[in-house]
Amino acid sequence: MITVQEHLSRIVDCVQRLPPIGLDLLDAQGCVLAEAVTSEVPLPGFRNSAMDGYAVHAADLAAASQTAPVTLPVVRDIVAGNTETLSLAPGQSMRIMTGAPMPEGADAVVPVEGTDGGLLMVAVLASVSVGQYVRQAGEDVVAGDVVMDDGTRLEPRQIALLAAVGTGVVRVTPKPRVVVISTGDELIEPGTRPGFGQVVDSNGLMLTAAVRALDCIPFRVGCVPDDAQTFRSTIESHLRRADAVITTGGVSMGACDTVKEVLSSVGTMRFDKVAMQPGMPQGFGVLGEDEIPVFTLPGNPVSALVSFEVFVAPALRLMAGRPQHEISMVTAVAAHDWAVPFGKVQFARVVLSQTSSRDGSGHTAAIAGLQGSHALGSLAGANALAVIPADVTSVRAGDQVLCHPLGPVLVAS
Ligand code: AMP
Ligand code: MG
Repeated sequence: MITVQEHLSRIVDCVQRLPPIGLDLLDAQGCVLAEAVTSEVPLPGFRNSAMDGYAVHAADLAAASQTAPVTLPVVRDIVAGNTETLSLAPGQSMRIMTGAPMPEGADAVVPVEGTDGGLLMVAVLASVSVGQYVRQAGEDVVAGDVVMDDGTRLEPRQIALLAAVGTGVVRVTPKPRVVVISTGDELIEPGTRPGFGQVVDSNGLMLTAAVRALDCIPFRVGCVPDDAQTFRSTIESHLRRADAVITTGGVSMGACDTVKEVLSSVGTMRFDKVAMQPGMPQGFGVLGEDEIPVFTLPGNPVSALVSFEVFVAPALRLMAGRPQHEISMVTAVAAHDWAVPFGKVQFARVVLSQTSSRDGSGHTAAIAGLQGSHALGSLAGANALAVIPADVTSVRAGDQVLCHPLGPVLVAS
């Protein structure tokens, strides 16, 4: 028996950030930059108006007030998109729109609200300071600056900045393509009602969805029977299109544990018992010329999901160039006593609820229902896994437990 940490370390030491590729900016959403990006242009690219109003020489309006407005001729309009170089003579104004280039000479903008809105002549009702409502070229981004570091994840905001500085294609770490293979003679395709002895391949859908939820690219192969030859050829054919492979089922001690049987002596594959509940039978190794990481997860649905969260997700994040952990653990108070296994880390399905009192807010964790590793009902009803270390012998109501959220957990507002 090995520890959870030993198994995870072995995986993490084996996987590598994927080699970079060039992608159009929008296609790179969710990827991380594989190199720093330097801007060749300043932002704003030119001095422009922050308001709809009038471009002026501030000095002309030094004496302007509500009771003694200063009137200036309006010599032209400047709209956003104007590309002429214009110049404003002292004693004059130009009507200017938000984002339009400032004429040379003008050093301030009077917002339309501070005027009578005149088209040929404008009465200005207050003085303005130099630079007022003017966006200076380069005040946001200086040309030559590194605007984004290697490893930055491209969310909508980052995409906007890269677009603004003129980037079309970015070099990023691609999202891992992950093949999901379910094994078992009992499995039938989702969407069909199972007959006696049949089981719907819920793991296949769950793991495919989990890969997608992690912002990686899943490919679900479907159900493969417990036949060594079929399984071998299936995994071989998919190794070519994958950055990682996840299998489920066939790794325990049964008579038809095909995955273990076929892969035991291949590549660097190793099958271990990991001191955890659920999820004890685990296999991992790299296969094929390209040394593709292969995770062989147990077939029991809860074991498969826990294994994904604990072992596969950290590895996929690293391959994607992201941090190994992106989820903050939540400390909660056990709502009641519950039984824990001896000498194994327990991943208990719990419902985390937010509590608030005068002392502040916190979370309680209550067991989500039947804890068997086959019990999908309690898995679907849970929103976290309480992680109880191997050396803890009991959980009592009121104990603090560390929980790994499985989805959004309410945060005190
Ligand atoms: P195994 O690990 O193959 O011995 O399977 C353990 C248990 O998980 C059995 O009850 C299987 O029917 C169930 N199981 C295996 N694979 C799947 C799957 N893809 N979807 C749902 N249940 C599964
Ligand atoms: Mg099986």
